[in-house]
Amino acid sequence: MNNQTFIVLLLALVLAIYVVMAVVAYIRMRGTRVIVCPENQESAAVNVDASHAAMTAVWDAEDIRLRSCSRWPEREDCDQACTGQIAVAPQETRAFEMLRKWYADKKCAICRRTIPPLHAVGPKPGMLNLASPSHETISWEEIPAEHLPVVFATHLPVCPQCQVAEAFRREFPDLIVDRNSRNAGNVH
Ligand SMILES: [Zn+2]
Repeated sequence: MNNQTFIVLLLALVLAIYVVMAVVAYIRMRGTRVIVCPENQESAAVNVDASHAAMTAVWDAEDIRLRSCSRWPEREDCDQACTGQIAVAPQETRAFEMLRKWYADKKCAICRRTIPPLHAVGPKPGMLNLASPSHETISWEEIPAEHLPVVFATHLPVCPQCQVAEAFRREFPDLIVDRNSRNAGNVH
């Protein structure tokens, strides 16, 4: 191997390392996060500028700045002091991770079966509203991320199958066969 080839390979290796660092930072910083807003001490949903974090991670420590916040545009000129929470706990502040932990090893409030591990794709589990007189269920995808901490305290977990069944029952009440009524009809 001559010197020229060695230098080219060395540069390619350095470039590959930089690319890997950027991709790792991008993956770590993408997705919706829930933080406690230092201004009002309430939960807010934020998204980090993952591309900016990836680019800065190549040269120095990644710079975390926000791309969006549920308190914007009213508070868009804030100092983004919440980014310190993300730097300390990049994984734990992710909304999906919070949901994953909340559902982990829990039983469905309706069928009592253990809820399978949460995945980004496929049927989503739901939540049973304890405060609602009809105990209606909602999909966690319908819940704004900033409301998750409150929802965790006021709802019970529902498995994907029961969530689909309850959503169908709510959407098409006329198509649901009431077994008791049918049996009663047979008797009379
Ligand atoms: Zn169930």
